[in-house]
Amino acid sequence: MILFEQVSKVYSDQHVALDKVDFHLKKGEMAFLTGPSGAGKSTLLKLISLMDRPTSGRIVLNGNNISNLKGNDIPYLRRHIGMIFQDHRLLMNRTVLENVGLPLLIEGYNRHEIKRRSLAALAKVGLNGKENSFPIHLSGGEQQRVGIARAIINHPPLLIADEPTGNLDPKLSLEILNLFESLNKLGISVLIATHDLGLVAKMRYRTLTLREGNMINDGLLRKRNA
Ligand code: ADP
Ligand code: ADP
Repeated sequence: MILFEQVSKVYSDQHVALDKVDFHLKKGEMAFLTGPSGAGKSTLLKLISLMDRPTSGRIVLNGNNISNLKGNDIPYLRRHIGMIFQDHRLLMNRTVLENVGLPLLIEGYNRHEIKRRSLAALAKVGLNGKENSFPIHLSGGEQQRVGIARAIINHPPLLIADEPTGNLDPKLSLEILNLFESLNKLGISVLIATHDLGLVAKMRYRTLTLREGNMINDGLLRKRNA
């Protein structure tokens, strides 16, 4: 699903944010990406979501080598990646249903189909009956669920989440991670960036650890490589 081979990202100020990173997330796999602030987690996710390009190395996404991408392939490939953000990025002046259906509206689906699929996506995240609410009237955990429903509306094979529980208390955080787990069981590959090691430890999933742009660990145990 995601293959990184010797991927480096050097920003224009010569800062090395990722240094020859290798990893492979298999189809249907769920993993965490962790490391202290500044380790390169967001940079890595931006390369996967095609918001930025690597300086060197090879990235293969869902069988597509993205080093050879043409500009007009990008929107198409991006549609196959569901993205979830810490601040969920909902439109506060739109209902839950409108927020969830937005990706389909942009693609020109008809109203009936948008509503049907949006309600189905809301059911999948446990938000039945909330479709006409405005996000401001929902709890933080519910708002994040709306963000997840919007991310799965296109049936992406891959979900990537950047600190999805950053604004939630421990109980709600665990609920959100359990939701990712249930989506993973449907066959969706999931990569979750978080610096919450307590939460990661509770879940017992593969954990990729970055430090200063280097992948220093890949596995369940968080041993320190010399
Ligand atoms: P994390 O998500 O793990 O906190 P980031 O990927 O955001 O880490 O950042 C990794 C490093 O790259 C940090 O030192 C950060 O300051 C730097 N960095 C991030 N974005 C840019 C940029 N656009 N230009 C220059 N340096 C950047
Ligand atoms: P349709 O296939 O016509 O979109 P479904 O009832 O199968 O309708 O799905 C409704 C919603 O449920 C979709 O918009 C999507 O968000 C979610 N969904 C269904 N199946 C999957 C799946 N395998 N992976 C991810 N999301 C799914």
